[in-house]
Amino acid sequence: MEAANVMDSEAVQKPKVIYRCKKCRRIVASEESIVPHERGKGEKCFKWRKRSGEKEPAQCSSIFVEPLMWMQPVQEGYVEEKLQCMGCKARLGSFNWAGMQCNYGAWVNPAFQLHKNRLDECHM
Ligand SMILES: [Zn+2]
Ligand SMILES: [Zn+2]
Repeated sequence: MEAANVMDSEAVQKPKVIYRCKKCRRIVASEESIVPHERGKGEKCFKWRKRSGEKEPAQCSSIFVEPLMWMQPVQEGYVEEKLQCMGCKARLGSFNWAGMQCNYGAWVNPAFQLHKNRLDECHM
Protein backbone atom coordinates (compact mmCIF):
# COMPACT_ATOMS: atom_id res chain seq x y z
CA MET A 1 0.00 0.00 0.00
CA GLU A 2 2.92 2.41 0.24
CA ALA A 3 2.38 3.74 -3.26
CA ALA A 4 -0.88 5.31 -2.15
CA ASN A 5 0.96 7.91 -0.15
CA VAL A 6 3.59 8.93 -2.65
CA MET A 7 1.98 12.23 -3.53
CA ASP A 8 1.47 13.21 0.08
CA SER A 9 5.01 12.62 1.18
CA GLU A 10 7.20 14.98 -0.79
CA ALA A 11 9.49 15.45 2.16
CA VAL A 12 10.36 11.80 2.44
CA GLN A 13 13.61 10.80 0.80
CA LYS A 14 13.15 8.27 -1.95
CA PRO A 15 15.19 7.05 -4.87
CA LYS A 16 15.17 9.21 -7.97
CA VAL A 17 12.93 7.88 -10.69
CA ILE A 18 13.51 8.23 -14.40
CA TYR A 19 11.41 7.00 -17.28
CA ARG A 20 12.91 5.57 -20.43
CA CYS A 21 11.35 4.63 -23.73
CA LYS A 22 10.82 0.91 -23.54
CA LYS A 23 12.00 0.36 -27.08
CA CYS A 24 15.12 2.45 -27.40
CA ARG A 25 15.93 3.26 -23.78
CA ARG A 26 16.07 6.98 -24.37
CA ILE A 27 15.28 8.94 -21.22
CA VAL A 28 11.98 10.71 -21.78
CA ALA A 29 11.09 11.97 -18.33
CA SER A 30 12.35 12.17 -14.82
CA GLU A 31 10.77 12.62 -11.49
CA GLU A 32 11.24 16.38 -11.52
CA SER A 33 9.22 16.80 -14.68
CA ILE A 34 6.23 14.87 -13.42
CA VAL A 35 3.11 16.86 -12.69
CA PRO A 36 1.12 15.24 -9.90
CA HIS A 37 -2.59 15.11 -10.48
CA GLU A 38 -5.54 14.44 -8.28
CA ARG A 39 -7.07 11.06 -8.62
CA GLY A 40 -10.77 10.61 -9.11
CA LYS A 41 -12.96 9.71 -6.19
CA GLY A 42 -11.31 6.93 -4.20
CA GLU A 43 -14.13 4.45 -4.23
CA LYS A 44 -14.55 4.37 -7.97
CA CYS A 45 -10.88 4.19 -8.52
CA PHE A 46 -10.38 1.11 -6.41
CA LYS A 47 -13.16 -0.74 -8.13
CA TRP A 48 -11.75 0.12 -11.50
CA ARG A 49 -8.35 -1.16 -10.57
CA LYS A 50 -9.61 -4.34 -9.02
CA ARG A 51 -11.23 -5.32 -12.23
CA SER A 52 -8.18 -4.79 -14.34
CA GLY A 53 -5.91 -6.56 -11.94
CA GLU A 54 -2.30 -6.71 -11.11
CA LYS A 55 -0.94 -3.27 -10.16
CA GLU A 56 -1.25 -1.35 -6.92
CA PRO A 57 -4.65 0.25 -6.54
CA ALA A 58 -3.56 3.86 -6.27
CA GLN A 59 -1.60 4.04 -9.47
CA CYS A 60 -2.61 5.56 -12.71
CA SER A 61 -1.68 3.88 -15.97
CA SER A 62 -0.14 7.09 -17.19
CA ILE A 63 2.04 9.88 -15.95
CA PHE A 64 1.66 13.55 -16.68
CA VAL A 65 4.71 15.67 -17.21
CA GLU A 66 5.73 19.20 -18.04
CA PRO A 67 6.27 20.05 -21.69
CA LEU A 68 9.71 18.66 -22.52
CA MET A 69 12.31 19.39 -25.15
CA TRP A 70 11.83 16.16 -27.09
CA MET A 71 8.14 16.80 -27.62
CA GLN A 72 8.42 18.08 -31.13
CA PRO A 73 4.75 18.93 -31.82
CA VAL A 74 4.74 20.97 -28.62
CA GLN A 75 7.71 22.97 -29.84
CA GLU A 76 5.97 23.42 -33.17
CA GLY A 77 2.95 24.93 -31.52
CA TYR A 78 0.33 22.22 -31.85
CA VAL A 79 -2.56 22.35 -29.39
CA GLU A 80 -3.02 18.61 -29.26
CA GLU A 81 -1.03 15.82 -30.85
CA LYS A 82 0.47 12.43 -30.23
CA LEU A 83 3.79 12.21 -28.50
CA GLN A 84 6.42 10.08 -30.16
CA CYS A 85 9.80 9.06 -28.90
CA MET A 86 12.47 11.15 -30.57
CA GLY A 87 14.70 8.13 -30.95
CA CYS A 88 12.51 5.34 -32.26
CA LYS A 89 9.21 7.12 -33.01
CA ALA A 90 7.27 4.83 -30.74
CA ARG A 91 4.07 6.39 -29.57
CA LEU A 92 4.51 7.24 -25.92
CA GLY A 93 1.41 9.26 -25.24
CA SER A 94 -0.28 12.45 -26.26
CA PHE A 95 -0.83 15.98 -25.13
CA ASN A 96 -3.55 18.57 -25.07
CA TRP A 97 -3.12 22.14 -23.87
CA ALA A 98 -6.83 22.21 -23.08
CA GLY A 99 -6.39 19.27 -20.74
CA MET A 100 -7.45 15.65 -20.71
CA GLN A 101 -8.66 12.98 -18.35
CA CYS A 102 -6.57 10.19 -16.95
CA ASN A 103 -7.94 6.71 -16.50
CA TYR A 104 -9.20 7.62 -13.04
CA GLY A 105 -11.21 10.47 -14.41
CA ALA A 106 -8.96 13.20 -13.06
CA TRP A 107 -8.60 16.25 -15.28
CA VAL A 108 -5.12 17.48 -15.97
CA ASN A 109 -4.75 20.84 -17.61
CA PRO A 110 -2.66 21.28 -19.66
CA ALA A 111 -1.98 17.59 -20.11
CA PHE A 112 1.19 15.93 -21.35
CA GLN A 113 0.42 12.30 -20.89
CA LEU A 114 2.82 9.39 -21.20
CA HIS A 115 1.63 5.81 -20.96
CA LYS A 116 3.48 3.84 -18.35
CA ASN A 117 3.28 0.66 -20.37
CA ARG A 118 5.42 2.31 -23.04
CA LEU A 119 8.03 3.31 -20.52
CA ASP A 120 10.59 1.67 -18.32
CA GLU A 121 10.57 3.07 -14.85
CA CYS A 122 14.07 3.10 -13.39
CA HIS A 123 14.92 3.85 -9.81
CA MET A 124 18.37 5.37 -9.57
ZN1 LIG B 1 -4.57 9.60 -12.89
ZN1 LIG C 1 12.21 5.20 -28.20
